[in-house]
Formats: sequence, C-alpha cells, structure tokens
Amino acid sequence: MLSQKMLELGTKSSVIREIFEYAKKRRSEIGDDKVFDFSIGNPSIPAPQSVTDAIMRLCSEKDPVALHGYTSAVGDLGVRTKIADYIKGQFGVEAKPTQIYMTCGAAASLTITLNAIINPGDEVIVLAPFFPEYRVFAEKAGAKLCVVKCREEDFQIDFEALQSAINENTKAIIVNSPNNPTGVVFSRDTVEKLADLLNEKQKQFGKTIFLIADEPYRELAYGVEVPYLPAFYDNTVVCYSYSKSLSLPGERIGYIFVPSTVCESAKVYAAVCGAGRSLGFVCAPSLLQYVIGECIGETSDVSVYQKNRDIFYNALTDMGYKVAKPDGAFYLFMKALEADANAFCEKAKKYELLLVPSDSFGYEGYVRIAYCLNEEQITRALPAFEALIKEYK
Ligand code: PLP
Repeated sequence: MLSQKMLELGTKSSVIREIFEYAKKRRSEIGDDKVFDFSIGNPSIPAPQSVTDAIMRLCSEKDPVALHGYTSAVGDLGVRTKIADYIKGQFGVEAKPTQIYMTCGAAASLTITLNAIINPGDEVIVLAPFFPEYRVFAEKAGAKLCVVKCREEDFQIDFEALQSAINENTKAIIVNSPNNPTGVVFSRDTVEKLADLLNEKQKQFGKTIFLIADEPYRELAYGVEVPYLPAFYDNTVVCYSYSKSLSLPGERIGYIFVPSTVCESAKVYAAVCGAGRSLGFVCAPSLLQYVIGECIGETSDVSVYQKNRDIFYNALTDMGYKVAKPDGAFYLFMKALEADANAFCEKAKKYELLLVPSDSFGYEGYVRIAYCLNEEQITRALPAFEALIKEYK
C-alpha cells in the first residue's frame, strides 16, 4: 500500500505546472510567437557574468576531487563564513557561520525549517494570497495550515484577522516579501506592527512563535525598502534562495539562517541540522556553494523586471484592469473580470493569454501574471489583453 497522500500529490500537478505544460503544447501547435505564457516564475534574465566566470574558474583551478566532493552536511565553512559576514555588513544583524545551513533553494529551506519546529497539533499561519507549496510543506511537517487573508486594498497584512487567528497552537507564521503572487513588499510599518503583535501573543500564550522569512525575492525590489525581518523580530528564521536573485533556479542553492536572537538558537539550529538529515537534505551541491562564496552580494540585472513592471502595469491599468501595484518580484496580481477566476482564465485562453487563477494561492477572483519575459513578448501580448477586456464591456 502506497502513501495515499504522496500518490495524490504526485498524480495531480500544480495548476501553474498544468498551464505551463499547456503552453508548451500550444506553442508546438500554433508557433512560439502566438502564445503568451505568463504562467511560471522562471527568471528571464541570465545569471551575472561573474557566476559564469566563477564556475569556469572553479572548474579549471580547483582540485576536482575537492570541488565535487561532499562538504560538511551543513555546508562549506568558508562559504558559510562569507554569507554570515555579508548578512552582518548588509543588514547589521549578528551572524555566524554556525548559524547558517546551506540548502537546495527556498523550497528545501522551508521544508527543513518547518520539520525542525513542528510538533503534532501545531498550526502554521500563511498570509493569503500565498505560494501554494506552503500547504504541501507545512502539512507534510505535520502542521495544520491556517490561512489569513491580506487586505484587498493594498495586500498588506490585515492585523485584525491575524490577531484573531493566532492561538495557543500557533507555532509559526510564514512571511514572503516581495510577495509571490502580488509583488507587494511589506512596509516597515507593517513589519513593525507584525513584530509587536507577535511579541504580545508570545507573552499571552507563554511560548515562542517563529516568523519564517521566505526570501527568494529579496533583491527583486524596485526602489523600496525591504525590511530585514530578523532586525525587527527576535524569533525570525530566514529561508533564503539564490534562485531568483542570481537567476539560478535550476541549480538549487540557498540557505537557512537561525540568528542568535532566536529563543534557544543553538537548539533550533541543531533541530534544523536534524531535519536536514532526516529529509536527506545534507551537503547542498558543492560546486554551487563555492560559486555563491565567490559571488556574494551580486544580483542579476533586475532593472529588466522593473522596466517590464512599468510597461505592463501602466498598460493594463490604462486599459481598465484593476492591478495591485507591485514593488518587487516579477508578478502582477490582477482582478479577474468575473467572480470565477478559472472561468476568466478560460476566456483569456481564447486569446492565447495563459494566466494563473488565484484560487490555488488561497484568494479568489484574481489572476497571477508572471512577467519574467522579455519586453517584446509583453508588448506583443497587450492587444490580446485589450481584446479580452472588450469582451466584458
Ligand atoms: N517561496 C516562494 C514564494 C517562491 O515563489 C518560490 C519559487 O518560486 C519558492 C519559495 C521556492 O524557491 P526555490 O526555487 O529557491 O526552491
């Protein structure tokens, strides 16, 4: 007898993946340039030249046995030292290499962190709309997922709803900013209020409530501050990834950072090591660890996404669509023109516009548009959006 839960997860692919596969099929039927695929968050700009140079240099100069061999389970000490120094320099938060655990990207960082802290009966709060895999990761770790919707006017946190959702079983809240799918960045004011509320609730229930900062889009912010959560709230664990900042999603590299301000920080880090071990997530890819060590602080040219955001956001709002103004990431969250976002996406398909309905993000009536494409693809799609809105007028 197989695990029914795993069978179910493996049989049904995510809505995003389904649309992505449909796009491939459609391209082969009618041609690449006729399909407008806004489904998946795959970076469209190349990794910086320094990444390619580092790979070439490491492959030609470093002893291949060491280069491709196992590092420590938690990651190479030299690389973790560089990351800790970067965190200190960039955010002014104390960080040591013994608080960094190298991972295969944010997905692994989140899974490990959740498994490190969850006990039966625990609840994890997510702020909707949210990255759909949070449900899979949290439930596999044994937690009950508790969904709190953000305010519709600006997609910042609805504190009234959050405060009534936190209870004695709340173990953690996952915060993702810049956000997938809205592109919204949580403001300093929001983060300060969140820290105050969590501190108050910790006191009320006499327990630790973790803030899990899911940070794959940290560097994809367009002229706004992205507050560093450990600087605001002591019990923050950072789940970082280089997938988007360095355009390396297929290479699977990131880290977990357990700051010393976290209650029983050394024990939490030890539990992270235990969770990594039990999940088989030890020794993240060695070559990529060394590449990161050589490219700390670098980012892909995110001005390309900012330009896309400007063109797309302005064009869609001029046409009459209602779109949340994104300050980061590479997603637009647009109100569907009918209550059922799935029906709206089906209509959009007639114009070869492939959009993701918001239901799987825990929020109804919207679509996610991933604009990590080139500018020409975006401008070519605009007449199709124009035709779609006309259908509703
Ligand atoms: N968290 C969010 C909000 C994401 O959007 C993604 C990927 O798109 C991930 C986590 C997983 O990132 P990674 O590729 O680093 O595993």
